[in-house]
Amino acid sequence: MTRILFWLGLVFLVMFAIRTKLQGGRPPQPRRQAPPPDAERGGAARGRRAAAEIETMLCCAHCGIYYPASETVQAKGLDYCSAAHARLPAP
Ligand SMILES: [Zn+2]
Repeated sequence: MTRILFWLGLVFLVMFAIRTKLQGGRPPQPRRQAPPPDAERGGAARGRRAAAEIETMLCCAHCGIYYPASETVQAKGLDYCSAAHARLPAP
């Protein structure tokens, strides 16, 4: 009878150790993520922020590369990606 209890206890300990090892190997899964603060206000602020992060892209009149509109160099009524391209004659 003592041997049976010993083996049962050993099997239980091995199973507990394996289960603990498996759970420790991966991060615990979050059950439910808290909504961001903007979502609680209807998401309008999030929409404005996303629109602010999206910047208009312009095409350089010399090389044709697209660049952010905030970096534009205007010359002769055209948009250029840099001052160097604004000085060069149009192709
Ligand atoms: Zn250019």
